[in-house]
Amino acid sequence: MKPADLTSATSFAEPRAAYIHVPFCAHRCGYCNFTLVAGRDELIEPYLAALAKELSWLETPRPVDTLFIGGGTPTHLPPQDLDRLLAIARQWFPLADGFEFSVEANPIDIDAERVAVLAAHGVNRVSLGAQSFRLEKLRLLERDHTAGVIQNAVALLRPVVRSVSLDLIFGAPGETLEDWQEDLAAALRLRPDHVSTYGLTFERGTTFFSRRSHGAIQQLGEDVERTMYEYAIDTLTSHGYEHYEVSNFAQTGHRCRHNEVYWNADVYFAAGPGAARYVGGVRETNHRSTLAYLKRIEQGASPVAESESLGAEDRAREALVLGLRRLDGVQQEEFAARFGFAVNELGGAALAAHLRHGLLEIQDDRLRLTREGLLVSDALWGEYLRH
Ligand code: SF4
Repeated sequence: MKPADLTSATSFAEPRAAYIHVPFCAHRCGYCNFTLVAGRDELIEPYLAALAKELSWLETPRPVDTLFIGGGTPTHLPPQDLDRLLAIARQWFPLADGFEFSVEANPIDIDAERVAVLAAHGVNRVSLGAQSFRLEKLRLLERDHTAGVIQNAVALLRPVVRSVSLDLIFGAPGETLEDWQEDLAAALRLRPDHVSTYGLTFERGTTFFSRRSHGAIQQLGEDVERTMYEYAIDTLTSHGYEHYEVSNFAQTGHRCRHNEVYWNADVYFAAGPGAARYVGGVRETNHRSTLAYLKRIEQGASPVAESESLGAEDRAREALVLGLRRLDGVQQEEFAARFGFAVNELGGAALAAHLRHGLLEIQDDRLRLTREGLLVSDALWGEYLRH
């Protein structure tokens, strides 16, 4: 039975990238609104069965250049289950020569056994949710590791994994610029190949959101957050990292190729609860509830909760916003040839204003964010998505 046509490509190329969502964590951190179930390890077995079934609806294995296992926390799975997960992923998404195979990991899960499993399956990029090296901030963020645990994880991964990436959060309640400087210095001492830095956000539905509305925690001022972000840009670039996307920095040859597929508005497969795919011009998102996802797949029903067929203009607008997140920006002539719309036509008055105010610039036919634009980029995108 094949309830959902996961491969409905027509004039679109066959995806060469795939994402698998693993919805398990030991505990839900106070700031997190990702699709996951915490403390429900009895669902791991049904999840693996459901994932295998969902992927079997692809009918034939689809070779990919990049495969990304994210979550949740994929490494929360016990080693034998992690082994099964990676085997299922590779069965349906065989890795082409020169592949990038990424797994997101929680530092506390990284032990010799799991590292051996990752190595056996050819995982060559691990993104560690370090977030901070300071105990006080880690406890505030409800993370269960320490700086020593991160150091140990990096030491175990280094010999077997080509790229080790660290995720860092800035702008935690009460954090000072000096605290953030300390965090970045600690991260740099580990010489990660890649760093992602995100300002803390307060998402509706999280405990941080309600704690903030009750006055139990305070969000930092925008100015402090911007100073922290600028400090990260200056520090990381002065240490040889290429700032290649709003939140991402890489040593030469260590950009995340899988995420570049998204920013390039290319197509990709996806499976698992809450996973979003883009195949054949159709954007689909699976049920965010893990239980609903499992139930639907068990019944042989489609796991898709939302499906949207993008028209040519919507596709072009999305591609413009995604492309502008990259520091390389958007090459205007190429863009028009690929999407059928000139950047000016889509950007209209907003684009003219952003250029006038120095938030965007054009160099050699490339439209891109300026330093000033980077600091406010999230506030710009809405104007390009509206018709
Ligand atoms: S470990 Fe990561 S995915 Fe899991 S709850 Fe915490 S922030 Fe969310």
